[in-house]
Amino acid sequence: MTVPRHSWDWPHRDVYATNRACRNCGIIKVTRHEPGLIPWTEFWRDGARVEAVGRTPPCEGEAPQAAGEVAR
Ligand SMILES: [Zn+2]
Repeated sequence: MTVPRHSWDWPHRDVYATNRACRNCGIIKVTRHEPGLIPWTEFWRDGARVEAVGRTPPCEGEAPQAAGEVAR
């Protein structure tokens, strides 16, 4: 069984954050780096924060089927 993995697009760098969007599911990975704080990572989908403590939420996009894998 193949676990879909995020396909991160090129990062968009902001002053205090770096944004990457997944080409498959559209989730946005935000690496926040603000002065005086240890950088941390947030995940956003459809404008809402995705709670994912210490791990990356699974990719729910329409990842291409692996060769030989039959869908249903
Ligand atoms: Zn994804």
